Amino acid sequence: MEMEFESILLPGIEATRPLVIAGPCSAESEEQVMTTGRELAAKGIKIFRAGIWKPRTKPGGFEGVGVVGLPWLQRLKHETGMYTAVEVATKAHVDAALAFGVDILWIGARTTANPFAMQEIADALKGHDVPVLIKNPVNPDIELWIGGIERIYRAGITRIGVIHRGFSSADKKIYRNLPQWHLPIELRRRYPNLPIICDPSHIGGRRDLVQPLSQQAMDLGFDGLIIESHCNPDCAWSDAKQQVTPETLQQILSELVIRDHAVTTESLTDLRHQIDEIDEQILEILAKRMRVSGEIAQYKKENDVQVLQAGRYDEILTKRSQQGVEMGMSEEFVKEVFEAIHAESVRKQLALINNK
Ligand code: PEP
Ligand code: MN
Repeated sequence: MEMEFESILLPGIEATRPLVIAGPCSAESEEQVMTTGRELAAKGIKIFRAGIWKPRTKPGGFEGVGVVGLPWLQRLKHETGMYTAVEVATKAHVDAALAFGVDILWIGARTTANPFAMQEIADALKGHDVPVLIKNPVNPDIELWIGGIERIYRAGITRIGVIHRGFSSADKKIYRNLPQWHLPIELRRRYPNLPIICDPSHIGGRRDLVQPLSQQAMDLGFDGLIIESHCNPDCAWSDAKQQVTPETLQQILSELVIRDHAVTTESLTDLRHQIDEIDEQILEILAKRMRVSGEIAQYKKENDVQVLQAGRYDEILTKRSQQGVEMGMSEEFVKEVFEAIHAESVRKQLALINNK
C-alpha cells in the first residue's frame, strides 16, 4: 500500500539528527518523573518518554502506575515545556493518554505483533491528529510491521514514525534483542520518508551498549534515538540494567559522530562502481557453482547415489569457515553464506533427481 507520511516533528523541535526522546522505562512516582524530567530538560532534551502501562513477561511484577501517572507528565510538561510520549496498547490507553494531553504515542513491540490490538488502537485513534511511533514486532517479520503501520495510517494518522528495538531470539548472547539491522534498512528502502528511531536501550539491554548502538544507528542514516534514562537507574522498577542517568545520556549524545548522509563524493561513487562489479562476479561464480552442482546431481542420478552426503557437507562447512577466518571474515558469516549455498544446491539436486 502506498503511504504518504507527514513530519513527526513538533513545533520547536529541530530537524537535525538525531531526534532524541528520553526518559525512564516506567513512571514510578511523581518525584521520580519530575526529577528525571527536570534533569533531562536541563540537558536540552525536548521529548520525555515514560511507560504508564507496562507489558511484562510474567504477571505479578510492576505493571505500571496506570492513569495516576498521567497528571505527573502533565505537570512536567507544564513546568519544563517538554513534550511527552507514552506507550499505548488498548483503546482505554489511547483515550486516557489523549485526554491528559500526551503529545506522542508509541506502540510497543508485543502490541505491533498483534493485529487485533493494532486494529483496536487504530479505531481509537480515528479523528485524532497525533504523531504515532510504531515499534517493530517482537518477531522479525517486516510484513507484520508494515501491516501495523498500514492499520494506523488507514485510521487517518499521517504523522507516523517507527522505532527499531530489535527482535527476540532464543540465542541471547550480547544483545537483549537482536538488532537485525537489515530489517529497518529494508523498511527504509520501501518507505524512504518514514522516520526511523532506534531504541538502543531495548536492543542492548545493557548500559554500555547504548553508545555503540546509537552510533551504528546514526551511521545507517536513522533519524532519531529513544533512550531510557532514569534519575537513579540502579533503583529503577523496570529495566534497571539498561537505563542511564541524564548525565550519562548527555555524554553518550556528545560522543556521537553524525556523518552527513547527503554527500556523495567522487571517490564514494567510484567505490560503489567497484562494489557493483564485484557483486556481478559473485553472481556469476554462484551460477557456475550451481551448474557444477547440477552435473553432480546428474551423476548421482545415474549411479543411484543419495543426494545428501552428511560427511561431505560437514567438511565443506568446516573447511570454508576456516579459510574465511584466515581471509579476515567472521566464522559465523562464512558459515551462513555456505549454509545458504548448500541449501540451494540440495534443493536443485533433489529437483533434478526426481525429474524423471
Ligand atoms: C519500553 O519502551 O519500555 C518497552 C516496553 O519496549 P518494547 O515494546 O520495545 O519492549
Ligand atoms: Mn523498558
